Amino acid sequence: MVHPILVWQPQKIFYNERSGVPAQPSPSPDRAAGAQAAGPGSASPVSLTLASAPLAGEPAAGEILIPGVKGRTRRPAAKPPRHLADLPMDERRAAVAGLGQPPFRASQLSRHFFGRYTDQADEMSDLPRDSRDALTESLLPQLLTADRELVCDGGTTRKTLWHTFDGALVESVLMRYPDRVTMCVSSQAGCGMACPFCATGQAGLTRNLSTAEIVAQVVAGARLLADGEVPGGPGRVSNVVFMGMGEPLANYAAVLAAVRRLTDPVPEGMGISQRSVTVSTVGLVPAIARLAAERLSVTLAVSLHAPDDELRDTLVPVNRRWKVSEVLDAAWAYADATGRRISIEYALIRDVNDQAWRADLLGSLLAGRLVHVNLIPLNPTPGSKWTASRPEAQREFVRRLEAHGVPVTVRDTRGREIDGACGQLAASAR
Ligand code: SF4
Repeated sequence: MVHPILVWQPQKIFYNERSGVPAQPSPSPDRAAGAQAAGPGSASPVSLTLASAPLAGEPAAGEILIPGVKGRTRRPAAKPPRHLADLPMDERRAAVAGLGQPPFRASQLSRHFFGRYTDQADEMSDLPRDSRDALTESLLPQLLTADRELVCDGGTTRKTLWHTFDGALVESVLMRYPDRVTMCVSSQAGCGMACPFCATGQAGLTRNLSTAEIVAQVVAGARLLADGEVPGGPGRVSNVVFMGMGEPLANYAAVLAAVRRLTDPVPEGMGISQRSVTVSTVGLVPAIARLAAERLSVTLAVSLHAPDDELRDTLVPVNRRWKVSEVLDAAWAYADATGRRISIEYALIRDVNDQAWRADLLGSLLAGRLVHVNLIPLNPTPGSKWTASRPEAQREFVRRLEAHGVPVTVRDTRGREIDGACGQLAASAR
C-alpha cells in the first residue's frame, strides 16, 4: 500500500557498479509539481537502474546538473581551487616546494589553518613577509563565503548559509551545549537521495563538496569559538556530525579525507577525536562495508526512518536498491569491525511512521544489538504536509522501543526557529 500522502513522480537513480553509490542524479524536472498535482493512487514506483556511470564527484562530459523543479540547466563543471586541506602533508610539502619555498613551510601553514584557524597572511608572523601572500593565495584560497547567519538559543545555535566559489549553496550549524560543541556539516551541495520529507532532497544534487570545502565549515566554527564569539567563552569544536546537506557516503573519497583532516593531530589536521565524529548514511551498503574496512573509530548513523520495506521504499527511495535487512546487516558488520555503537536515526512523522506496531517492529529488529536510536521530531519544511508526531505517539514509540531493551533518545530540536532542518535555509535562499 502506498501511503496517500507519499506521492511523487517516478525518477531514475543510477548506481555506480564499482562503488555502489548513486551517480550524479537526474532530478525529475516535474517532481515537485507532480507531487502537488498527483492524487492518491497515482504514484508510480521509482525505477532503479544499475548503470556504468561516473563515480560520484566525476561528472559526465564535463558537466554537472543544476537541479530545479522546472527544467534542467547545465553549466560547465568546475573544481574548487586547490586548498591545503585537500592534501596530505607530503603533498602539501611538495606544493610548497613548487612555490620555491622550503618544505617545512607546509607545516607552519598547516598550524595556522588547523591549529589557529586562520588563513590570513597578516596573522602569520612566523612566515617571511615576502612569501606569505604567495603561500596563502596558492594554498589557502577562500572556499566558502557566508551569505547569511541565523542565531538562536541565546547565540549558542548558529546556522550559516555559505556559497562556494561557483555559487553552490551549503549549510552548516554550530550547536553549543554545556559539555560539548557540535558542528553539523554538509558533504554535498544539495542531495540526490530524494527523501520526500527533506528540503535538501527536494532540490536535488548540485555537486559534491571537496574535502577542503567540508573541513572549512568546521574551521569556521572553530574560529568563532576560539575568538569567543559564541556565548559561553572561548572553546573548541569537540564533535562533528556529517548530517547536513547531502549523503556523505555518496561523496566517499572527499568525506573520508575530511574525516582524516578533522581527526589527524595538528599540524596534519585539527586533532578532533575520531570517536567524536559521526558519519550518517541512508544505507549505501557497499560504501558502509568500505568504511568498515577503513577501521576508523567514527560512529555510523543510519537514517532508517521506517522498519519495513514497504514504507521505507517511499520515505527513503534508495531502499529500493538496498532493503532494510541489507542495510542493518551492513551496520552490524560495521559495529563488529569497529566496536562502535550504531546510531539509528528515525524522523518521527505524524501518522506516517509513528505507529505502535512500527515501534515494535523496529524494536524487534534492533533488540540485542550494539545500537542506539535517535528519534527526531520532524521539523516540517514550509508548505509540506509532513509534520511531527503527536506527543502521545512519540511517548508510546519510545516506551515500546525501551520495552525491547533498545536505548533511545528523542533528539533535541534545536534551531527550529532558524530553519534548522537540513536544507531549509538554502531552500528559502533559492
Ligand atoms: S534526508 Fe538526507 S539523504 Fe535524504 S534527501 Fe535529505 S539530505 Fe539527502
